[in-house]
Amino acid sequence: MKIYNTMSRSVEPFNSIEQGKVGMYCCGPTVYNYAHIGNLRTYIFEDILKRVLEKDGYKVKHVMNITDVGHLTGDGDDGEDKMSKSAKAEGKSVWDIAAFYTKAFMGDIEKLNIEKANVICKATDHINDMIAVIEELERRGHTYTADGNVYFSIDTIDDYGKLARLNLDELKEGARIEVDSAKKNPKDFVLWFTNSKFKDQAMTWPSPWGVGYPGWHVECTAMSMKYLGKHFDIHCGGIDAIPVHHTNEIAQSEAATGEKDWVHYWCHGEFLINDKGKMSKSSGEFLTLSTLINHGYDPLDYRYLCLGAHYRSQLKFSYEALDHARSARMSLIEKVKALKAEAKPSESLSDKALEYKKEFDEDLDNDLHTPQALAVLWSLLKDTSISAAEKLNLIYYMDRVFALSLDKVEAETERVGSDEDLALLEERSEAKKNKNYARADEIRRILLERGYVVKDTPKGSFLEKTV
Ligand code: AMP
Ligand code: ZN
Repeated sequence: MKIYNTMSRSVEPFNSIEQGKVGMYCCGPTVYNYAHIGNLRTYIFEDILKRVLEKDGYKVKHVMNITDVGHLTGDGDDGEDKMSKSAKAEGKSVWDIAAFYTKAFMGDIEKLNIEKANVICKATDHINDMIAVIEELERRGHTYTADGNVYFSIDTIDDYGKLARLNLDELKEGARIEVDSAKKNPKDFVLWFTNSKFKDQAMTWPSPWGVGYPGWHVECTAMSMKYLGKHFDIHCGGIDAIPVHHTNEIAQSEAATGEKDWVHYWCHGEFLINDKGKMSKSSGEFLTLSTLINHGYDPLDYRYLCLGAHYRSQLKFSYEALDHARSARMSLIEKVKALKAEAKPSESLSDKALEYKKEFDEDLDNDLHTPQALAVLWSLLKDTSISAAEKLNLIYYMDRVFALSLDKVEAETERVGSDEDLALLEERSEAKKNKNYARADEIRRILLERGYVVKDTPKGSFLEKTV
């Protein structure tokens, strides 16, 4: 297998540290709001990477953190504390906010068939591990205290910024708003806040430097090394993590161990964008998975949409694109249903069928080219020289990576609902036809209250009982 390594800016052959095993750390969500579908694109990419490694026989130890403390609205120690800001806005405690949005996030990834990480670790459960890292950095002379906060001094290492290839001479922090005057170098970053601007910080812990709370970057250093060791194979995130978050993680991790090559492969997913650019929580257009579901889409329509773009290319979201993904997925399901009615998956494959498998493997093993791998699936379906049994064998094999639940499609969905429910469903279809989306959405909500989800398919709309 080959994968693009942001550190070398090239596609490299993948070799794991330990034979047959992979340690993989993925920066998890900051749980102050729902994840938007851009964030979810990154988790889908990471899931594909993990599934391809598993397909190739690796046993993957996947660790993901939950950021429930320390993340400010600006990555460089500026701005407000995201958790406190959200708690104030919603009139809840920060702990309630964290619990609520963590649950919502776990629900989203399950709906998208994203495999759950083997270790899901909350930052607030690992404060002592972070303190231990900061103490080690202090012992090795990489920190200083100013205005009560503990900072990492980037001038104590000789390769700060190597991941992002930062040219430190060119960086003039003066242009930034809210420069922290306590910093010796503008790129220094906080390891532990005691005397921060957030006097009303709700989450604080005792530490050798006083009562306070950790900076954001140190959590990933502490938790990744706790669960994956001093060196591990893969570290993932979205590309926005490269210049600050991952740069600072590398600086403090390698300074804390005194060893280079902390992580062997840095893998980053490109953005989901909209008309205004990167989808983000701060810029208005903020779509969640629930928004898509409320508009009648299946979460797997979105997964299919993401599979259709290479993870290192930007993907522009539009409802038209999602509609295309939905029709493609529905027609895939129809084809699989027909094949299932005809045969059972074969045990073995002919040479011709093996060619498809080989092509599929090559596309994915070459830096996760999912669009090409999907094209292989479609060519296979069209190939009349391959038997239904062999097609099913290959479809199941491919779906171990695509994860479109193609193994679960056999049962024709039963039509459910009382006469009154079905009359409402009919009225909704009419409303949609007349472009009265407000009424159509209202009916969807009424039906949801009655315990039904409306499913829109090319064959029409029907009801499914909620679980
Ligand atoms: P956050 O919850 O803000 O820490 O972000 C979670 C993940 O989503 C991080 O890996 C980000 O890099 C990633 N991310 C943020 N915005 C986007 C976007 N528009 N498209 C894809 N990934 C994103
Ligand atoms: Zn991280």
